Amino acid sequence: MSRLTSTTEILEALVGFDSTSRNSNLAIVGWIEAYLDRLGVAHERIPDQTGAKANLWATIGPAGRPGYILSGHTDVVPVDGQTWTNDPFRLTARGGRLHGRGATDMKGYLACCLAAVPEMVAGRLATPIHLSFSHDEEIGCVGVRTLIAHLGAAGIKPAGCFVGEPTSMNVVTGHKGKRSFRVEVRGRTCHSSLAPQGVNAVEYAARLIVKIRDMADRLAREGARDPLYDVPYTTIHTGVVAGGTALNIVPDACSFQFEFRPIAADDLDALTGEVMAYARERLEPEMQRVAPEAGFTFDVMSGFPGLDTPAAADAVALAKTLAGRNAHSKVAYGTEGGLFAQAGIPTVVIGPGSIEQAHKADEFIAASELEACGTFLDRLIAHCRG
Ligand SMILES: [Zn+2]
Repeated sequence: MSRLTSTTEILEALVGFDSTSRNSNLAIVGWIEAYLDRLGVAHERIPDQTGAKANLWATIGPAGRPGYILSGHTDVVPVDGQTWTNDPFRLTARGGRLHGRGATDMKGYLACCLAAVPEMVAGRLATPIHLSFSHDEEIGCVGVRTLIAHLGAAGIKPAGCFVGEPTSMNVVTGHKGKRSFRVEVRGRTCHSSLAPQGVNAVEYAARLIVKIRDMADRLAREGARDPLYDVPYTTIHTGVVAGGTALNIVPDACSFQFEFRPIAADDLDALTGEVMAYARERLEPEMQRVAPEAGFTFDVMSGFPGLDTPAAADAVALAKTLAGRNAHSKVAYGTEGGLFAQAGIPTVVIGPGSIEQAHKADEFIAASELEACGTFLDRLIAHCRG
């Protein structure tokens, strides 16, 4: 059986599991475990706190030596509200394309890796290859954090990590980070005809939102630059705001959400501190002169670190050799790569399929992309035999 045939059959099985992030992923993990069992490959579950989800870790080759991680996620985004030509959880081939939820993001990569395991086993590797398949990536790179902590505790120090998010097999060395906040603004209510006796939470929220926008404008105008990004500087944006009940009532509550998407050159803690300092030092004293209970509360909603692997890193050179490419680039979307890099593991994002097809109705991966990824993995196996 050709590699593409086995890859397609594995992809068909993986797409058949509705592993939308809100569901347990134990069924798809169980299928992968059974597959590895048939090949005699040992594996380990790293469960979440609820026990309803798990990361999967497996090693082929001598576990005690620094090797290479093939990193992917088992969860997919929902199909809710999307119109699909065929059942999204049934792989459907049409004109060289394989359609199904997760085909490109990123069960296609998982299938390529699993289809290569027999070669890895037969290859008597001198350098190990690890499979790291996580849960809950799509809701903020949540699951893999436990797995990375586990590696640290076990003293496992891989030489590199290839995160197989769809890059059309381009070598990607960086992406921006993300940190998002929910802000609660407490004011004091009163009848609108007596407005100065209250503290208008909507107005103070607006003043902080304007401050955030001013910072965003400053970064756009004169902030640090990374020309490998389409938007080559750090962005900040407010996306949700809610407050007030009626025009004749001064609102005592307002909430809003904003996020940073920083490039590596900017200090995210300093930027966060600037927003908070404006609230604490400029706005709260004014509010509390009228109502001592008034003020701001900040909660971090989610976030992940950016990735910025130096172009000269060995892992980048190896990825270029294996992919047969000379160039590297950076991407707009986030990945688990920043978390691996934060743990000291040199990381490159490279995987089959295009991000253009991810998260959409009729998501697909081209069979040619699966073949290109298979070639990349064959070369990695040859390298690890060395
Ligand atoms: Zn993904």
